[in-house]
Amino acid sequence: MYERRQTKQITVGKVPVGGGAPISVQSMTTTKTADVEGTLQQIYALAAAGCDIVRCTCNEKEAAEGLAQIVPRSPIPIIADIHHQYKMALAAMEAGVHGLRLNPGNIRKPEHIKAVASEARDRNIPIRIGVNGGSLDPALYEKHNGLTAAAMVESAMQEMAYFHEVDFGLMKISVKASNVPLMVEAYRMLADATDVPLHLGVTEAGPPPMGLVKATAGIGTLLLEGIGDTIRYSLTADPVEEAKAGRQLLEALGLRERKNVDLIACPSCGRAEIDVIDVANRAMKAFEDKKLPLQIAVMGCVVNGPGEAREADLGIAAGNKRGHLFVKGRNVAVVPESEMVEALVEWAEFINEHGTEAAIARADTARAEREAAKDRSQLLDEKGDDANNAGERIVEIRRTVGD
Ligand code: SF4
Repeated sequence: MYERRQTKQITVGKVPVGGGAPISVQSMTTTKTADVEGTLQQIYALAAAGCDIVRCTCNEKEAAEGLAQIVPRSPIPIIADIHHQYKMALAAMEAGVHGLRLNPGNIRKPEHIKAVASEARDRNIPIRIGVNGGSLDPALYEKHNGLTAAAMVESAMQEMAYFHEVDFGLMKISVKASNVPLMVEAYRMLADATDVPLHLGVTEAGPPPMGLVKATAGIGTLLLEGIGDTIRYSLTADPVEEAKAGRQLLEALGLRERKNVDLIACPSCGRAEIDVIDVANRAMKAFEDKKLPLQIAVMGCVVNGPGEAREADLGIAAGNKRGHLFVKGRNVAVVPESEMVEALVEWAEFINEHGTEAAIARADTARAEREAAKDRSQLLDEKGDDANNAGERIVEIRRTVGD
């Protein structure tokens, strides 16, 4: 759908990154890497939530030893995150990791960088050059008069030059900052300067919902420009939330095949016949673990709901204490209001197995449409076109403040 920037392809374990491969979702464990069972538990939860590649810190000998046990049991490739100690990168490779992340801001000695890149070259292990605005090399900070997009890009290019000196080319790059416009500018500059695959992220985005908003603004903007080969949401939250958010963003942009329910719901208004927020939340919960690649709508009233959500595979709209189910805009059944969520699940499972046409064919659509029309006209009679009683309110306002 979007013209993607042409990049080289590397592979992290079995996951291709760049070169037209599906954009992958990454996250990072929050456990101590030495805690093998705890870390694996988190990795399995991340994989189930749609994470393709996971990063674990490798900050001490015990972490590297933990990685040696985690790698063979992990369902997804493991990247070791390295700061300050280049020897931890060598230890992680010895442990069998599928990739490394180096921060050029805190491993600065050229001989250390080249020692890691030479070993990675011999072992065929890719490395991410992970520039981070908060830990930029002080020399570059000074040269550029502070943290700028150009300073971050120069840091990445310097590191890449060291890699090239030892004939190492299996890399991807990130230039993350917590400031969204700055991060977007840095990635745009980088995309002009190199065809190395890019890992997108807004660093230290914070807790949801603000963290989600910031990360989505930065990552989404770049993806819509065709920039980005792999993404990570850095949230102050359970990493499973990061994986879900990454996956949902890619599905929403049409960049990854839909695996889960896309629940759409009206924002509710004065016409709503039910507590839309409650029903939508209960529906989200009911579909959470079901891998149904369908768009499902929860609409507050039968007056406008079925029409507004006519593109959805399945939907339900409330009216007169009843739920009116519709498939691709066609009314198919009427259920009591208390059974709306259960009915959605039952019909969604049927559609997933047999398709929307079969669902319409099995329904008494004439009856369902008659019932919906009855409830719709009754609601229109009660509330008319003025669902918010604006006419009465205006009279009252004028009475209060005078004409
Ligand atoms: S008119 Fe009906 S469907 Fe539209 S927002 Fe209001 S309650 Fe929801």
